[in-house]
Amino acid sequence: MQPSLEKLRKFFRLEHENKYENTAIIGGLAKMLDYWEGEARADGVAEEVIQAVAARLRSYEKLSPEGRAESLKGLWKRIGETYPEAGQKPKTQQQPNRVNQPPRPPRPEQATPPPPEEESAPIPQEQKSQPRPQEQRKPQQQQRPAPPSPRPRSEVVPGARTSQTPAAFNADITVIQGVGPKHAESLKSLGMQTLGDMLYYFPRRYEDYSQLKPIKSLFYGEVVTVLGTVQSVHTRPIRGGKSSIVEVVINDGTGGLRLSFFNQPWVANRFKEGEAISVSGKVDQYLGRLVMNTPDWEPIEVENLHTARIVPIYALTEKVTQKWLRKIMNEVVSYWAPSVVDALPEKIKLSARLVSLSEALTQVHFPLSQSRLKAARERLGFDEIFYLQMGVLRQKRDWKDAEARRFPASTEWLGTRLSSLPFALTSAQQKALEDIRADLDSGKPMNRLVQGDVGSGKTVVAALGASIVTQDGAQAAIMAPTSILAEQHYRNFTSLLAGENGPLQKGEICLLVGSTPEAEKETIRQGLADGSIKIVIGTHAVIEPDVLFKDLEYIVIDEQHRFGVEQRKELRSKGTNPHLLVMTATPIPRSLALTVFGDLDLSVIDELPVGRQPIDTYVLRPQERERAFTMIRGQIRDGRQAFIVYPLIDESEKIEARAAVDDFEVLSNEVFPDLKLGLLHGRMKPSEKDEVMMKFRDREYDILVSTTVVEVGVDVPNSTVMLIEGADRFGLSQLHQLRGRVGRGAAQSYCLLIPTREDATENERLQAMAKTNSGFELADLDLKTRGPGEFLGTRQAGFANALKMASITDVTLIEKARTQAQALFERDPYLQLPEHALLSEAFERFWGAGKGDVS
Ligand code: ADP
Ligand code: MG
Repeated sequence: MQPSLEKLRKFFRLEHENKYENTAIIGGLAKMLDYWEGEARADGVAEEVIQAVAARLRSYEKLSPEGRAESLKGLWKRIGETYPEAGQKPKTQQQPNRVNQPPRPPRPEQATPPPPEEESAPIPQEQKSQPRPQEQRKPQQQQRPAPPSPRPRSEVVPGARTSQTPAAFNADITVIQGVGPKHAESLKSLGMQTLGDMLYYFPRRYEDYSQLKPIKSLFYGEVVTVLGTVQSVHTRPIRGGKSSIVEVVINDGTGGLRLSFFNQPWVANRFKEGEAISVSGKVDQYLGRLVMNTPDWEPIEVENLHTARIVPIYALTEKVTQKWLRKIMNEVVSYWAPSVVDALPEKIKLSARLVSLSEALTQVHFPLSQSRLKAARERLGFDEIFYLQMGVLRQKRDWKDAEARRFPASTEWLGTRLSSLPFALTSAQQKALEDIRADLDSGKPMNRLVQGDVGSGKTVVAALGASIVTQDGAQAAIMAPTSILAEQHYRNFTSLLAGENGPLQKGEICLLVGSTPEAEKETIRQGLADGSIKIVIGTHAVIEPDVLFKDLEYIVIDEQHRFGVEQRKELRSKGTNPHLLVMTATPIPRSLALTVFGDLDLSVIDELPVGRQPIDTYVLRPQERERAFTMIRGQIRDGRQAFIVYPLIDESEKIEARAAVDDFEVLSNEVFPDLKLGLLHGRMKPSEKDEVMMKFRDREYDILVSTTVVEVGVDVPNSTVMLIEGADRFGLSQLHQLRGRVGRGAAQSYCLLIPTREDATENERLQAMAKTNSGFELADLDLKTRGPGEFLGTRQAGFANALKMASITDVTLIEKARTQAQALFERDPYLQLPEHALLSEAFERFWGAGKGDVS
């Protein structure tokens, strides 16, 4: 009898024992239809029978126990009409006690010999598995094929079965039967050299053939995957022969479905009649019939069709086929995963409710159910975040172990500084300054991240910190990503610290950028080396090897995400354990910040200076562009300036530049022929960009047309309009950064957003910009709708790359792993306890592989 019918019988019997209370399956008998239909279809059970079962089970819940008994009996009788061997009442058909029985006799389909390849390496199909007693005893659980039991493989790896140390992990993949040097080369190109690499080469996605939908039960509008056989392929011309359409009809035994491919005549040759394919896409409607337009599809190997399981799909290269890799992977997983050493202490696994590493590695490749796959992913994701957190904590500890010079600042002295500022600090600025002041006097090097929305006033806080250090004769260096920003900082620092009552002389602060004349550079180098210059502000020029300091004690890195770890390290190495302040205007939600920057202390400036007017933001429709232009003209007539920003249209800078140039031509010749327009784009040299920015700042242009290069914190207080074209292409955080370019002066400022086309959902997302001026709120929204990509600077990107399984948006998992890592770190910071020996090894392996980058 077909296994699916066998299963049905078992549940019916159980239901009978349970007095027809609808308890044989948790959630009711109808629940089993979720997977049973697919299984039955894969078993080749007649469609009428499947439909009869489905119909009866769906109404089962509503019946009285007597009605239910009748219903099941009737149903079984119906099944018996088609399958006489099943045609006995369930209760008379005693379920054999399989626990004490030898393995089941072969089922009918096993009579057909498996494809030749399969003989050497089975993929985990039911027919290859031995029944596992403990699973047989739990009939209310979904019955799935048990994983293949490891086969003795001494002929391949002598003594390997006993090799349970991580060393086996490092065994070369050529120990696998069927993997010679040539295959090894292909696998290497996918990043797999050892057995461990293979176990951690996770599927890109899965095809859940256990939950297939028959064509007959498709609904208009749903997104599904169906399997079927190609019945016909036709190409016909449309629009008078200007275009063509390829129509493919597939059938899965329950019905036919038409697939349409527009203007891709070549696909016609890719389909072969009679070939089984898997098709994914949205079910559409055409002339009353269901169709799929340009769906994703791929041929399926026949073996998948009959497995009725969740099949892993791996990323491949040209030389490796899915089928082959899956086969090899199955060997590796079924043989090695069970003996993998689990470094995570039992205690942590228990309290975080995690499955074992063996289970996780097995299930992630060949899941027996969606829930076991989920548990596997959770475990593997936990490991990643846990090890990252441990590394971050260790980094923090190392820093705290280092000594740094103390810079005490008396309240009186600081008070004088504050009273000479042109404004009073906001309380958020005061708080950040207090944090810095305490760090500088702690005897440990400061490692602080100051996070503050655009315009929140980070610069003055950094400058006051610098003044505390220079007061004691030491030096400070400030690094910014562009020379225009560096120059802006230079002017701010000079007016804040070297003004009338300032603690420094003008000559004690200097600007060092790439374009600084060589002679001047030389003077600056000398001044830094002999200590006569106290503060240097600049770009990458500051970290050049010939720039040496007498006594560098304080470092500020602005817009930290624009710099790489190496550059930060270099600057740091110019002093001995200098105090470090990194600043970012990219608001990162707290959970994310604690994970990514867990080694840094965090100060948040979450308040704007008083009197700052919120920027009025409007979302316009594309056809309302003229209104935007009118507004710009009006503002310029009032003596203001405007930005017009175009999105990065293409990956390639070349095309981006050309689009910007084209738009610029149209704007300056046709739309604003009477105004002065400047152009800024990514293909320009840094010096050219700076020049344009400076001209705009100095009001030589009315309008600056730009790609996103304008994003970084340049202050042009006279500009009051920011028009952003193609706003739908930006994340909210990025839009917020762009918007922050205006509203820096006293006048009311405006931000106009024009999406590429009209789209209700998109419009709604953009409306969030109109509703709030808080970068943090927008960042949170971004994280929810677009994932963490918006926040990824160099460092965060490195961090995210280390996460193959965990999602940085999974706050619950992050919290869980962080709590556990912290608790463990408090118990055993150096992982010296004997029970942590394995963990310590795994930890070194994780970080040794260069994952994450903490500086
Ligand atoms: P960001 O945090 O974006 O780097 P800046 O440090 O460039 O912001 O400050 C933006 C503007 O706000 C500057 O012109 C600065 O002088 C001004 N500013 C900073 N703090 C205050 C304050 N407490 N009150 C008024 N204006 C301030
Ligand atoms: Mg700034």
